[in-house]
Amino acid sequence: MRKNLIAGNWKMNTNHLEAIQMVQKLSYRLDPADYERVDVVVCPPFTALRSAQTVIETDHLGIKLGAQNVDWHDNGAFTGEISPLMLHKLSVSHVIVGHSERRQLFGETDEVVNTKANAVIAAGMTPIVCVGETEDERDAGEAEARVGTQIRASIEGIDSESVASIVVAYEPIWAIGTGRTASADDAGAMCSFVREQIRDSFGDAAESTRVLYGGSVNPGNVAGLMAKQDIDGGLVGGASLDPDTFASVVRYWV
Ligand code: PEP
Repeated sequence: MRKNLIAGNWKMNTNHLEAIQMVQKLSYRLDPADYERVDVVVCPPFTALRSAQTVIETDHLGIKLGAQNVDWHDNGAFTGEISPLMLHKLSVSHVIVGHSERRQLFGETDEVVNTKANAVIAAGMTPIVCVGETEDERDAGEAEARVGTQIRASIEGIDSESVASIVVAYEPIWAIGTGRTASADDAGAMCSFVREQIRDSFGDAAESTRVLYGGSVNPGNVAGLMAKQDIDGGLVGGASLDPDTFASVVRYWV
């Protein structure tokens, strides 16, 4: 049984004071039963992690803390970067690696994503490894080829035991921040394809890997997506910035 996971990617939004309010508001809207059904993760910017951590720990909230990016070195002369050890010390449990915005705007390759994913695991956290095709690739019938290459390269070298506990997010680039969602059937088929790719390399461990869909998830479409066998949750951008809306996504069955 895979527990569902819904992660909010706040991107470069919210200062640390706003982050405190957002975490508190979200917590008012969720009950203990919700956390039993769904792992709820929020991924604020680096500058808000400490504040979010303090609220979560002081108020004993069930919300988990995620980061949006990481460097792979432990420490050293890497100006502007943040290490896995630094995130772990802030009680960060999940780290997004290879988000399409990192790949497209900051030149992250599958090799970089793979190095980051391995470093996150080595530091005792869970990577949320993002993959997804462009609109041109989908129109050319190359979505599976593209995503297959990305997923194999991004999780190479991870041991089977760790693969079972990582999270993979299938995020078609044309659906991110556009208001256009993949249909539940298409998203479900691609998430099944992602799991098959993991199964090919890692066998049964793939049955435990959680595969999320991301791309304009909102309270209106989340239930249809979650009904698909191989969709174990969502990576949510825009709809995670409003605690009411995000709580409705988390409580998709209500
Ligand atoms: C994302 O940032 O990963 C994302 C899916 O964004 P949105 O939900 O806004 O499309």
